[in-house]
Amino acid sequence: MKIPFNKPYFAGKEIQNIVNAAYWGHISGNGVFTQQCHDFFEERYGFQKCFLTTSCTDAFEMAVMLMDLQAGDEVILPSFTFVSTANPFLLKGAKIVFADSMENHPNIDLGKVEALINEKTKVLVVMHYGGMAVDMDKAVELAEKHKLILLEDTAHAIDSFYKGKPLGSFGDFAAFSFHETKNVSAGEGGMLAINNNKYIERAEIIWEKGTNRAAFSRGEIKKYEWVDVGASFLPSDIIAGVLFAQLENIDDIQRKRIAIWERYYQGLKHLEEKGLVKLPRLPEYATNNGHLFYLQADNRKQRDEMLNFLNNNRVHAVFHYLPLHSSPFYTPQHDGRALTNADRFAETILRLPFFYELPLDIIDMICEKVAEFYHS
Ligand SMILES: *Cc1c(COP(=O)(O)O)cnc(C)c1O
Repeated sequence: MKIPFNKPYFAGKEIQNIVNAAYWGHISGNGVFTQQCHDFFEERYGFQKCFLTTSCTDAFEMAVMLMDLQAGDEVILPSFTFVSTANPFLLKGAKIVFADSMENHPNIDLGKVEALINEKTKVLVVMHYGGMAVDMDKAVELAEKHKLILLEDTAHAIDSFYKGKPLGSFGDFAAFSFHETKNVSAGEGGMLAINNNKYIERAEIIWEKGTNRAAFSRGEIKKYEWVDVGASFLPSDIIAGVLFAQLENIDDIQRKRIAIWERYYQGLKHLEEKGLVKLPRLPEYATNNGHLFYLQADNRKQRDEMLNFLNNNRVHAVFHYLPLHSSPFYTPQHDGRALTNADRFAETILRLPFFYELPLDIIDMICEKVAEFYHS
């Protein structure tokens, strides 16, 4: 049997929570479990206001609706990321200006961002790759200096920190994912965290299809009405129940995943010392949250050969992110700047199997396979 790349993990109380939601008679959105999930994030990480969504992509769309962008407004975001970081802005007719990765890290190179800012620039998006923090002092400083809205793509970054402060608490907005490949999962799911008061009241309305139903549910108004634009962003309380079962076990999940990450690192260090591979470099201001493990080959050819070798040896390894600026969809619209670091990470990164139940001795075996590739 092949070692899968990912395997969903169930912490224990997921099914019981689904049964409870049904028993309580409220399985649509914004029920008991949704509230518990919101409280969890607001209390544990200090996010000002949280809204569960059906995906991280949806959390992005909700954030973009709140930003009130005009056609022609510009958004700066990294090329080395997932399409969901970019797509929602295009729905509003905004123009995307892609930024390169750092020389020695897949995260956005903030040192090169200022040159991309002009009077049309409205938003700066950062994505914490592998849950490893972007330099948020610098990101916040840039956003404040140029009056930009700051959005953190925290799809990888649950329970991770920058100089001790939780990722997702810096941006005006942060978008989380609970897709089955993420640390904490509801199958599909996401959340928008908002840390700027001026967006919160309207967010509640947009979240509920443009109505003031949330205020109505709290008994604050007598009837609920159509008061703004909106969409259906809230997930069923069944989904929230699954998510809450995971959140209650987050410390155990994180401990386990960080141990997996460390095991890979220790098992592959000798290859890095021999100059054969590059392992992830954790910036001194960042924490590792055990989201994913990658290594870097010398070049694309070697990476692709290693991918083949591992997959032929029953290890499901994968590449990561084709840079968005050179995608079939966006190439004709990109301004032509070469983004060589993003290209290089896309060509050389190889991701190894990573999931809660991955046994440590299997990790050792995978590390041996990688070593075998280099010795063959
Ligand atoms: C997974 C992911 C998303 C999208 O998450 P969904 O919940 O599947 O919409 C967005 N950005 C990044 C960086 C991701 O890895």
